[in-house]
Amino acid sequence: MDMLSTLPRHLDTKDLSNDANSLNVTMPAAAAAAFQLSTNFLNATPVKTDQQILENSMLEDDPNANCQLATATDTKSICYDSQSSPRWGPQHKGAQELANLYSPAAMCGIITADFGSGLVHWAADTWGSVELPIVGKAFLRPFREHHIDPTSITRHDFIETNGDNFMVALPILAAVAFNFLTKSPADIQDHYPISAYLFLCSIFVAMTNQIHKWSHTYFGLPRWVLFLQDNHIILPRRHHRIHHVAPHETYFCITTGWLNWPLEKLRFWSGMENIIEYLFGCRPRADDFKWAQKSQ
Ligand SMILES: [Zn+2]
Ligand SMILES: [Zn+2]
Repeated sequence: MDMLSTLPRHLDTKDLSNDANSLNVTMPAAAAAAFQLSTNFLNATPVKTDQQILENSMLEDDPNANCQLATATDTKSICYDSQSSPRWGPQHKGAQELANLYSPAAMCGIITADFGSGLVHWAADTWGSVELPIVGKAFLRPFREHHIDPTSITRHDFIETNGDNFMVALPILAAVAFNFLTKSPADIQDHYPISAYLFLCSIFVAMTNQIHKWSHTYFGLPRWVLFLQDNHIILPRRHHRIHHVAPHETYFCITTGWLNWPLEKLRFWSGMENIIEYLFGCRPRADDFKWAQKSQ
């Protein structure tokens, strides 16, 4: 099809070729014609008129459209009646519903999981002995081994690594799933923040030992795991190395590690140790020292 034959009648093809020549003398005639055509067409038929833009958008100098001059005739001062026109900003019904959908509960769930990982890790590293009945060999032994052979965790299979934490998280995840399947939409909406909290907390609790294992793995990690580590969404490798400096007395959180710095600055762990030592006379990390000093 001849492109010039598609021009609107009010466009003079002679003028068009002159304008195109003035735009760029090296531009092919067809390209210049297409460029001029699109420019003229946009100017002649705008997508929205100035009036439509003013009536349907928030003014830049009054983003919440709170001025009340509904009868103004000057287009520069057109504002809208609060009853008949949509009002933008925090009083807008849609904005209020969207704001209510935001909940910090999910983030609190992740932070709770991180704190829980630190508390359990601190208690197991700092107190008790491998000689204690049942808990000694079943629960405390891996913590002692981890300090003197940190990469042993990378030789554990998926079940050995994650079994214990999945046992804690799965009943909670099952309860959340049961509620979603059996409750009415209104009930689910009412309890959505606590469901989001439990869901994220359980997922991160379940994944804590796997995340800890990844923090000791220096070869063959998938790209997406490296991405999560590099962006500190899960425990980064360099970050966790701070814990693996004798006497292993800080940076106990091993899920995201987000709380390690603030808890260290608050002297949270050393404060807890001082209180327990004062109350019960136990020396922190006595059993850990004993295993670390074995030479034969
Ligand atoms: Zn440790
Ligand atoms: Zn470790």
